[in-house]
Amino acid sequence: MKDQYAVVGNPIGHTKSPLIHSLFAQETRQDMSYTAIEGPLEPRNAFQDVVRTFASRGGKGMNVTAPFKLEAFAMANDRSERATLAGAANTVKFEDGRLLADNFDGIGLVRDIEVNLRLPMVGKRVLMLGAGGAARGALLPFLAAHPAELVVANRDVSKVDALVASVAGRGPLIACGYSDLERLGRFDLVVNATSASLTGDLPPVPPSVFSPDGTAYELAYGKGLTPFLRLARNAGVHGVTDGVGMLVEQAAEAFAWWRGVRPQTSAVIDRLAIPLD
Ligand code: NDP
Repeated sequence: MKDQYAVVGNPIGHTKSPLIHSLFAQETRQDMSYTAIEGPLEPRNAFQDVVRTFASRGGKGMNVTAPFKLEAFAMANDRSERATLAGAANTVKFEDGRLLADNFDGIGLVRDIEVNLRLPMVGKRVLMLGAGGAARGALLPFLAAHPAELVVANRDVSKVDALVASVAGRGPLIACGYSDLERLGRFDLVVNATSASLTGDLPPVPPSVFSPDGTAYELAYGKGLTPFLRLARNAGVHGVTDGVGMLVEQAAEAFAWWRGVRPQTSAVIDRLAIPLD
């Protein structure tokens, strides 16, 4: 039987993961199957039953998407440091009866920025909006890229204060609310890691944060010019991009963790990318 993998989420109809992983498997000649599973929202613990059943039938690993990332993390036997900081897992692997959890969202985002977009973060002023799962997962990979300064802004300031305190001493980090941004000047890279774009909303970010020769990165993908990207464009920013590259890069990290071989990503990104306008 082929090695079995799956993505689990709810809803799951929109997922691109089976396509991405089947393209990776073709390219790297891996004999595996990859399906999408709609995880049950109730009763309690039903998600865990789905994961355990998949493993007991010979499953090798799963990608996990909303709303199950926290539950996947909680049920793991072993967790990576970045998953622990995020409090969330987006990938699990079954090995010797144990459930191993990792989170490749942040490292996928950094790889898209630094490798695909050729924008090294070293010495740059970086602003990240949001303090949810994606922002938490990005924190350590961002610091590892050695920006001059990483400012993280969130609506709920207590959340971003706690997040930044959890990695105190590991880099030049500042937590703040949106009202502080006016006085913090321009940034080379502004990353929208809020979920505002999913509902067509704009985080209350002032246009003064953008540098015309800088970059605005939207984590959401397939939504065209979101209000955030439109604000950046109107502020004169040429480099605006969405999160499709991050999606493919985090998938490549998961694939490499499972299969021991890293697939090429650029053709897959080109295939999935939708023009912003
Ligand atoms: P969470 O639900 O964990 O976090 C949501 C965050 O958004 C919180 O910080 C919240 O602030 C903030 N927020 C929500 N609405 C607004 C608003 N109107 N104004 C300002 N802030 C707002 O979401 P995730 O971290 O899981 O996801 C964030 C985004 O990243 C989504 O768009 C998701 O699709 C995308 N994503 C993309 C991936 C990719 O591969 N490209 C992978 C993972 C995520 P507060 O705490 O104040 O409520």
